[in-house]
Amino acid sequence: MTFEIVLETQTPETADIRATCEAWRGRKGATSVSPEDARELAERLRRHGLRPTRQRIELLAALSSKGDRHVSAELVYDEAGARGASVSLATVYNTLKQFTGAGLLSELAVSGAKSFFDTRVDPHHHFYVEEAGEMIDVAAEAVEISKLPEPPPGMEIVGFDVVMRLRRVAK
Ligand SMILES: [Zn+2]
Repeated sequence: MTFEIVLETQTPETADIRATCEAWRGRKGATSVSPEDARELAERLRRHGLRPTRQRIELLAALSSKGDRHVSAELVYDEAGARGASVSLATVYNTLKQFTGAGLLSELAVSGAKSFFDTRVDPHHHFYVEEAGEMIDVAAEAVEISKLPEPPPGMEIVGFDVVMRLRRVAK
C-alpha cells in the first residue's frame, strides 16, 4: 500500500523506474518488462536496503528471468546487452557485488576460475565441472561435516559451503 503511494508521487527515483519501462518498451527485440514487474523488482531492492536505480532494476530483471542459476559477471553483461541495457562490465560486476552484500545473491569463488554469482541464497553446496565451467547445486543435507575447526577467539561460524571440483573419469 505504502509502496503504491510512493510510486504515484513523482520522485526522481520513480521517474527513473518509469523511464526504464519506457526504454524497454521502445526497444526492438528487448524483453518487455511490465510496470508491474518493475514495481516488484523495485520493491525487492528496497526490501534488501538498496535504492531501486534503473541499472539495478535492469540487472535484477535479467538475473531473475531464468529461475535459479549460477552466473558470471560476463554472462550477465552479455544478457543485459541483449536486453538493450547499456552498462559496462565493471558496473555489472559492482552491482552483482552490491546484490551479494544485500543478500540477493551469493558469491561462489572457485580457485583458478572466475567468480560465480548464485541466485539461490539458501544454504547448499556445489559440484563444479571444471572442463565446462559449470556449477551444479547439491542439497545442504547431502554433505555431512564431522569436524570443524575452532573459530578464532570472539568469532562464531555462521555457515560454510563446499565446492566439489569434478573431472571426467579417464577411460
Ligand atoms: Zn547454487
